[in-house]
Amino acid sequence: MSKIYDVIVLGAGPAGLTAGLYAGRARLSTLIIEKGQDGGQIAITNEIENYPGQMVEGESGPSLIARMTEQAKKFGAERCSDVIKSVELQGDVKKLVGAKGEYLAKTVILATGAFPKPIGCKNEGKFVGKGISFCATCDASFFEDFEVYVVGGGDSAVEEAMYLSKFARKVTIIHRRNELRAAKSIQEKAFANPKLFFMWDTVVDEVCGDELMDSMIVKNVKTGELTKIEADPDDGIFGLFGFIGYNPNSALFEGQVELDRGYIVTDADMHTNIPGVFAAGDIRVKSLRQVVTAAADGAIAAMQCEKYIAETK
Ligand code: NAP
Repeated sequence: MSKIYDVIVLGAGPAGLTAGLYAGRARLSTLIIEKGQDGGQIAITNEIENYPGQMVEGESGPSLIARMTEQAKKFGAERCSDVIKSVELQGDVKKLVGAKGEYLAKTVILATGAFPKPIGCKNEGKFVGKGISFCATCDASFFEDFEVYVVGGGDSAVEEAMYLSKFARKVTIIHRRNELRAAKSIQEKAFANPKLFFMWDTVVDEVCGDELMDSMIVKNVKTGELTKIEADPDDGIFGLFGFIGYNPNSALFEGQVELDRGYIVTDADMHTNIPGVFAAGDIRVKSLRQVVTAAADGAIAAMQCEKYIAETK
């Protein structure tokens, strides 16, 4: 029979790794299961400057996450790579079934985060990786000295546009309204950046090309006017980066855990509607999705696992 862990943490982003750290320190047998690389969205974030105490110049998401992983392991949390296909969360022993095996635990912390929303234009699927990207850290260098467009008006879009401007010769933010949602401090830096331009009240309607994306049609949402934007013939391609928010990774829990528009509903102590099942980080209903709030959720969830196990002995 498989080992029954005290805690299984699903997802190794800042919430999951912090949960692993706290559960490990509480001497709970802990397994962190992750399907890809550690870090979740932080793994594709170039610069982290608002995590408390983080004053290291140029700290990237991956470098911060690498230390979080090490810290969780140092306190005994095990880490396993698997893709979980189904979960049975009711009852005293929770079961997670993965591609490589089954995992059992007295408590589970769901920390599966969220993934980038598609831009929503025609032909989008055809050009992902052939002009369209959702990760500036991963793909900026492909667009060294090319023209790049960024869709969105929030913190992610503006920060990633500034990062892209270190590579591209020109970066244009395409935003559906005529003002940005991003924090004022971020906006100030963006407006002062000579390589950044703005296309207001505009959405991308369609992307076009043969093998590579070489043109797109944008639409003015106020006038309905359509404009074709073509790649410089010398380039043959331009970049289109989407940063318009995220969708929660919660399909696996549908029908078991209470969801609100796909996000897991918890109380302030990270309890879901199922005893012994907790949620932490971007996957849950909350007002601020940041590394610091994800880490805080993870710590609370782990401590609640300890309490639940003590009370149900
Ligand atoms: P966000 O704040 O939800 O912003 C999404 C942006 O995309 C908005 O400007 C929105 O337009 C636009 N948008 C949404 N759907 C669209 C569509 N279908 N077509 C065109 N545009 C669309 O998302 P985010 O920027 O990814 O940030 C997510 C969270 O992470 C936020 O809480 C943010 O503060 C946080 N974050 C913080 C930092 C930081 O502090 N350094 C960095 C990155 C992210 P409207 O404005 O018109 O709604």
